Amino acid sequence: MSSDQTPHTASNGRPIRLYRLPDSLSGKLWVWRYLILRRITQFSVLLLFFATAHWAWGLVGEPLLSGNLSSSSVVGLVPLADPFAVLQILFTRHLLSTEVLIGAAIVLVFYALIGGRVFCSWVCPVNVVTDFAGWLRNHFDLGNALHLNRSLRYYVLALALLLSLITGLAAFEWVSPIAMLHREVIFGIGMGLIGVAGIFLFDLMVLRHGWCGHLCPLGAFYAVVGKAAQLRVRFDESTCTRCGECIRVCPEPQVLNLNQAAERGLVTSGECTNCGRCVPICPEDSLSFDLRPWIARHDQRQRANRTIG
Ligand code: SF4
Ligand code: SF4
Repeated sequence: MSSDQTPHTASNGRPIRLYRLPDSLSGKLWVWRYLILRRITQFSVLLLFFATAHWAWGLVGEPLLSGNLSSSSVVGLVPLADPFAVLQILFTRHLLSTEVLIGAAIVLVFYALIGGRVFCSWVCPVNVVTDFAGWLRNHFDLGNALHLNRSLRYYVLALALLLSLITGLAAFEWVSPIAMLHREVIFGIGMGLIGVAGIFLFDLMVLRHGWCGHLCPLGAFYAVVGKAAQLRVRFDESTCTRCGECIRVCPEPQVLNLNQAAERGLVTSGECTNCGRCVPICPEDSLSFDLRPWIARHDQRQRANRTIG
């Protein structure tokens, strides 16, 4: 990885280098690998739903992936359901079928293991829209017109559950831009795109990462789910020069509290989306994806080496 040399030195004696995008195509593709993989995953999920609905894609005589992001079925065998939508319905005091509850449990366990907000950066179609707004913001160097606390999304989450309880309707599902965008892509362009355009303009003109980083209750729900996830961003304190390049690209920069990460050897916050933006741009390769038990083992080895040294 190429990087500029600056005259400054970090407290660990290393020169502080700034990140520079490689000149070669292969170098660029390597840096963009997680972005490319995320887009492939996001579009593949949409393609599977679309092709099942419109081209009757199937397997062993069953629809391949029928339904939508709230409730679906894989080859008519494995039920999947959005656990936040299910939670809202439970708050409405309506009964749910065992199949839907099993579907929600499968999805919940999956994201609890790999990181709740993996849904946000690897599956949710709205992320493509908000990332595009973020890219345009960087391109035109736009500032924020508003400041909002990132905790606001937890209040929106609580409000969605409270409204579900009071109205007897799954409140967020009625206005969810995620469901709207999914419906529009799979079943046709219509009024739902107005909501998605609103989010795009809000993110572009008003606040950086405004929707996903401050308001979306589904993102907040998955942040709670992913608190104890096993797949994490590992942080190597010994090589980090605190150049700040990772924080500059992170959509949830508050999660990269490097002093806290140094104590645990990893990014602990459930708000990390495991998007992988920070990993390839670190000039010192101090960040990487790893599993919690391996991070713990690595830390123990490092501590033992320091004691011996
Ligand atoms: S925060 Fe909400 S809209 Fe944004 S990516 Fe996550 S679920 Fe999708
Ligand atoms: S810490 Fe890294 S992986 Fe997590 S949200 Fe920030 S850039 Fe993405």
